[in-house]
Amino acid sequence: MKKWEENVRKVVPYTPGEQPNQPGMIKLNTNENPYPPAPGVQRALEELEAESLRLYPDPAASELVAALAEYYGKEKERFFVGVGSDDVIAMAFQTFFHSEKPILFPDISYSFYSVWADLFQIPYRRPALDGDFRLVKADYFKDNGGIIFPNPNAPTGIYMELEEVEEILSHNPDSVVIVDEAYVDFAGPSAMELVDKYENLMVVQTFSKSRSMAGIRIGFAYAQPKLIRYLNDVKYSFNSYTMNLPSLKLGAASLKDRAYFQETVSKIVSTRERVKKELSRLGFTFPDSKANFIFASHESCPAKELFAALREKNIYVRYFAAPRIENYLRITVGTDREMDELLNFLRAYLNRRPC
Ligand code: PMP
Repeated sequence: MKKWEENVRKVVPYTPGEQPNQPGMIKLNTNENPYPPAPGVQRALEELEAESLRLYPDPAASELVAALAEYYGKEKERFFVGVGSDDVIAMAFQTFFHSEKPILFPDISYSFYSVWADLFQIPYRRPALDGDFRLVKADYFKDNGGIIFPNPNAPTGIYMELEEVEEILSHNPDSVVIVDEAYVDFAGPSAMELVDKYENLMVVQTFSKSRSMAGIRIGFAYAQPKLIRYLNDVKYSFNSYTMNLPSLKLGAASLKDRAYFQETVSKIVSTRERVKKELSRLGFTFPDSKANFIFASHESCPAKELFAALREKNIYVRYFAAPRIENYLRITVGTDREMDELLNFLRAYLNRRPC
């Protein structure tokens, strides 16, 4: 190693899902939404003038923050927006997890958490989910420097009822608790409704899944104004202009169309429920996902083999070679047609080659 290299920060990065670009591929590997964004987003895109890019965007992202405040019927001071929820969560790690004590998140969870913790040198512990991949609440009743978990969890899809989320909150008045709700719109009530009661709760959501806008990169946090102020102080110490002008406009346009949003979310939920039944018939088991993906394991055919066979057919799903989950595939819920192609392939494959 060269002398200068000794001073380089060495990290093991997060591995995002592949973004292949094959003609005719079926892409069920990164939990994107198969439907286009709301029609108003297309119109807003057409109205954008290159000339408007001459100026810096509004550092406070006021237009998007105001649209969120209106959509949820809450004060503007309770929202913070970022470049996808990844940006919001990374910023929150830097802001709120500044203790000598370890932060807590589940062993099977969004794999970016440990990457940020390592990058920012935050100590952490990962209490194991139980045998059914459920979070063991009592593990979070111990002294800690902060807590984060996704709800629904990823990649399991399991949704924890708000009473249980609240139990964790009520045992942790001394640390910030972040509930990462990337998939909550497909699941059940959001922990946003607990924010009035808990000044140390921050809820994070994204436009990448339920709003079909992964490509524009918008995420947001909702919390009491004090928490949001702390988050903004760190943001303005790092990069004032995280949100570019098109994302502010297009994000605001998306929030104007409630009906389209509800319609696409409910289409995905009904496809998900149908696919669950079909997968069971084919010998798969899975936690009862409330997200836009299904985390499935076959009774006899190894996940790694199925992953490779699907890929060969241009059907992309996600496989994690990690302890406890190496025999599972995470399958994003696509359109009915895409899911039928997936199911037809699996049916034929498992018939031909009983594993
Ligand atoms: N949290 C969880 C649990 C996720 O699965 C994802 C998607 N990879 C994110 C956060 C980040 O999503 P985005 O940055 O697109 O908002």
